[in-house]
Amino acid sequence: MPFSKIGLSRPIIQAIKDLGYTTPTPIQKQAIPIIISGKDLIATAQTGTGKTAAFVLPILENFNKERKLRGKRIRALILTSTRELAVQVAANVAEYSKHLTLSSLAVYGGIDIEPQVQRLIYGVDILVATPGRLLDLAHQRALHFDELEVLVLDEADRMVDMGFANDIHKIIEHLPEARQNLLFSATMSAAVRAIAHDFSDDKRSQPAAEISISPKATTAPNIDQWLITVDKDTKSALLSHLINQQK
Ligand code: AMP
Repeated sequence: MPFSKIGLSRPIIQAIKDLGYTTPTPIQKQAIPIIISGKDLIATAQTGTGKTAAFVLPILENFNKERKLRGKRIRALILTSTRELAVQVAANVAEYSKHLTLSSLAVYGGIDIEPQVQRLIYGVDILVATPGRLLDLAHQRALHFDELEVLVLDEADRMVDMGFANDIHKIIEHLPEARQNLLFSATMSAAVRAIAHDFSDDKRSQPAAEISISPKATTAPNIDQWLITVDKDTKSALLSHLINQQK
């Protein structure tokens, strides 16, 4: 199935073609039409499945129809756990939008905030941010959320593991209620579900769509596997022998 069949238009298809993408990955096939339709989405998918393009491409598609950006405003916010991921996602956004006139920027902690404040003065269509630095910028009134249209939580489980759950709840409180929410996570723990619950509360007219892309079955790298054929009767004896042998 080509990318054009799932609702993407020519400048976006050209950009991904330049990168060598010919067909959408399973997560892209499922997520892109849902996001283009404006629905909220909760997706279980790991890194390596093509999940970044699965949320960036439809956001570009929707934003390209209408151009409106005011100073210090952002239209899409992509929250990531680390500086490295923020830089990587922003690089993808820049590549995918190279034939469009949309702007993007990554902001993260550990470096001088002032150049980031300057870059936000004229507004940014797509902002990729780590939670702490985003809150600092908001407190400094370097950006306002009143025109935000889409929130993406990328690798939500990793953000929770790194202790960002409170920051995320705080950020969500600042956002306009009428927005599209997209949550991507490799796993769905109770803490991730609690964040997803913020999305699907009854104030929303439609419940979030949910999709799950199962990873290929893999074994943890520190586990060895081998096969020993044995009669059913001697199975327990063999198991205790192997356990004793490994002590
Ligand atoms: P991600 O899961 O977003 O980290 O993406 C994993 C890798 O797959 C990245 O290097 C992407 O550039 C690449 N990729 C994403 N979508 C496609 C596609 N449809 N065809 C080929 N490569 C892709």
